Amino acid sequence: MTIERINCRKMPVLFIGHGSPMNMILKNDFTNSLKKLGKNLPKPEAILVISAHWLTNGTYVTCMEKPRTIHDFYGFPEELYEIEYPCPGWAHDARYLIRSVQKTQIKCDNEWGLDHASWAILKHIYPRADIPVFEMSLDYSFNEWNPKPVQYHYDLASKLVFLREKGVLIIGSGNIVHNLGIIDFRNIDATPVNWAVEFDEKVKSALVNMNHIELIEYQKMNGSHMAVPTLDHYLPMIYVLGLQEENDSLQFTYEGFQHGSISMRCFQIG
Ligand code: ZN
Repeated sequence: MTIERINCRKMPVLFIGHGSPMNMILKNDFTNSLKKLGKNLPKPEAILVISAHWLTNGTYVTCMEKPRTIHDFYGFPEELYEIEYPCPGWAHDARYLIRSVQKTQIKCDNEWGLDHASWAILKHIYPRADIPVFEMSLDYSFNEWNPKPVQYHYDLASKLVFLREKGVLIIGSGNIVHNLGIIDFRNIDATPVNWAVEFDEKVKSALVNMNHIELIEYQKMNGSHMAVPTLDHYLPMIYVLGLQEENDSLQFTYEGFQHGSISMRCFQIG
């Protein structure tokens, strides 16, 4: 049956702070929290991941039957490059999504696949790789330092709410605080720096208070230039906010830091 005919209980939405690719092979509190999610969530018809690692000119969704596993990271142990996530794609229904969101032009992609923002976390959440997965890119069309306004992404996300009713689990995969410039590469458990903790806490209280405007206008928050030096890892959270509805519950499924300057905060809406 195709997604056009399916009506299910409304699916929750996840924001996952994916952090280091090393999490693929580590067993830690973060990876345990992902495994727990897989056990507790209702089984989705499909999974849509909005990826911090797919930046494009315009917005794309993957339309292939068999998305390839993309090993888009460098300098890590060989065994990470041997991991595959052989899930099916969501070709027919990706086109349905494109038709349904009329005001923003979303295009079909047949080249990309699943980058590590998707499969590195799905490997823990749904290790059997038996649920169709497709990705959506971030429109970074102006330029890296001055991309489309954050509000644009929030508004686009709000047009995807219907997918929740169709049994699609939508996951924004990025990191709320993501500063690779001062990262402690050698120590994944490094003590987090103060400004990172403060910014992450401020985001947490804005989430609790459903203060989306504060999060859209994040540049007004203290420490934002250090916490969000580029928008790529922050924007997937904005999509999750755009998908939040008035009566949705909020649950933090993981809180913590890796490498001193990467917030691993994860949350579930609905
Ligand atoms: Zn990343």
